[in-house]
Amino acid sequence: MIVSTLVAASLIAPAKPVICIDPGHPSENGVGTRGKEVTEVQLVWDLGVEAGKRLRGLGYSVVFTKSKVGEKVTNARRAEIANEAKANLLLRLHADAGNHSGWATFYPDRKGTVGKSTGPSDAVIKSSTAAAKAFHPAAIKALGGVLKDAGLKTDRATNIGGKQGALTGSILSQVPVLLVEVCVLTNPSDEKVAKSKEGREAMVKALVAGTQAAVPLPKK
Ligand SMILES: [Zn+2]
Repeated sequence: MIVSTLVAASLIAPAKPVICIDPGHPSENGVGTRGKEVTEVQLVWDLGVEAGKRLRGLGYSVVFTKSKVGEKVTNARRAEIANEAKANLLLRLHADAGNHSGWATFYPDRKGTVGKSTGPSDAVIKSSTAAAKAFHPAAIKALGGVLKDAGLKTDRATNIGGKQGALTGSILSQVPVLLVEVCVLTNPSDEKVAKSKEGREAMVKALVAGTQAAVPLPKK
């Protein structure tokens, strides 16, 4: 009886939404940027691991594209991991370099081409756009002014996206995909936030709140 009840319960329970967290670098695009002290690869790894832990606690299924901070994974393989997991969201984490400041969210709004691949599909463009429009304002709200709102942008506002039409990770994604530049590490005031416990807590909260807005949990 116990066994059959458990089977029945598992059949009724709604499937957990799957979030694929992709802490950027090292990849074919190098090891990432750095501030005076904080490196992009370590920052986004730390934020991704903590956000993943909290999302699991909330009832999400979470997969990672890397198993340790220094693991080199190509952007193609990262997209493949999200596709294989049939993720409801591929959340790509980066930190920017430049003279600007703040948290920016990027999504593919058209197809791009890398090598022999053109994508993402119209369905993924649509679902990524919807996810981005839910994610970004929720993340900015959760940041509580700790970082500037650097805007919701399309992949074409990035160097690689501008050349290809979309980022490689977007072109190859068969699931909704977003890329966050959590801050601008070469900007001293942003690096200060990225170094502080409070700043990191706000960034983790923003990732979690954004994900919850983009991929709401099924109602119990
Ligand atoms: Zn990066």
